[in-house]
Amino acid sequence: MHVPPFSLNKQLSEIGPQLEEALLRVLRSGHYIGGSEVEHFEKGFAESVGVPFAVSCNSGTDALIIALRALDIGPGDEVITCSFSFFATAEAITLVGAKPVFVEVDPHNYLIDIQKIESAITPSTKALLPVHLFGCPVNMDELMKLAHKNNLKVIEDCAQASGTKWNGDFVGSFGDVGCFSFFPTKNLGASGDGGAVTTKNKMLSIRMRQLAVHGMPKRYVHTEIGYNSRLDAIQASILNVKLPLLEGWIERRKSIASKYRELLKDVKEIQLPMSDLKDHSWNQFVIRIKSLDKDFDSSEQKEYFHQEHTKQQIESISKRDWLQNNLTEKGISTIIYYPIPIHLQPAYKCLGYTVGQLPQTEKLSKEVLSLPIFPEITIDEQQYVVSSIKDIFKNSKYP
Ligand SMILES: *Cc1c(COP(=O)(O)O)cnc(C)c1O
Repeated sequence: MHVPPFSLNKQLSEIGPQLEEALLRVLRSGHYIGGSEVEHFEKGFAESVGVPFAVSCNSGTDALIIALRALDIGPGDEVITCSFSFFATAEAITLVGAKPVFVEVDPHNYLIDIQKIESAITPSTKALLPVHLFGCPVNMDELMKLAHKNNLKVIEDCAQASGTKWNGDFVGSFGDVGCFSFFPTKNLGASGDGGAVTTKNKMLSIRMRQLAVHGMPKRYVHTEIGYNSRLDAIQASILNVKLPLLEGWIERRKSIASKYRELLKDVKEIQLPMSDLKDHSWNQFVIRIKSLDKDFDSSEQKEYFHQEHTKQQIESISKRDWLQNNLTEKGISTIIYYPIPIHLQPAYKCLGYTVGQLPQTEKLSKEVLSLPIFPEITIDEQQYVVSSIKDIFKNSKYP
């Protein structure tokens, strides 16, 4: 059996005709930039998040950049976020000229450790940028309290968390701006790149709309340097078909996650993701494989960060990698989100972080493994993933 980490095949066979019709409608309309599909999507998406304004743009990365710019964050400013995320979270901060400051994650839910934020605040701190990683919502009650107390802006990175709630409200409705991605593997995926920002603040929504179109409030009047960052009408038409299905897909992700949990509960070698959150939308189901001390203290590990390194070198160092290789041999594709934390990426050598500075984050990077999860995965496929994991721990030997 082959189990992919993510697959659109079944989704396409379920909604293929609607998607094709939407594509043809746009193609024949001749309205490829802006227009009714885009307007319809923005309205529907804002409603789905529970805010009055959504502005679409070209990607989740652009959504973050546009949000930061609209909040006047730039050179000299610091933005607190976490290093255990996709690179774009920090990249956007750097691209507007500000400095990302990384706070340790909570090893139980893999999210920014709210208790550790306050000690990272300096007179230059302008904003907090929490990431609802893997579809798990950050505790926005606590985070917003902290932000208000310290007079900080809040930009939510909701790229992996479309349709996720925290305490009854949707993520993207708490902070000053919510930033979403419609990259195909996200909870709500387009057939290409796409993104959106959400806000309750009308002035902010106007500024973001202008920034996304060359800083142009009026045709050919440019009041600031902006971007060419629009959602194509074609992508909007795809998203218009998919948005009403999001809630059902998330319900399926939730039941897939609880099935994994049930099937894996006796496997002592792995640690399951935190379970007490009914609102986790499970964009990823990320387990941990406890590393051995020898995986950790090796000077080899210290050397590979900040250097050009081969895939082989990375793979030579942990039990997690051993499990992943064995699963690959059995036809099961898993993914490591993310093997190198952002603060240790070669591109961020300039920030001066060193190995050991964010130990929880670094440990997670060596231990996490994302099992195949998408709304259409079958119970047979899940059972095969789990029996393969059990079989590997029982019958293969870790070197
Ligand atoms: C995917 C992702 C982004 C960037 O979104 P794109 O649409 O790929 O630009 C940003 N942050 C996180 C956490 C992501 O997972």
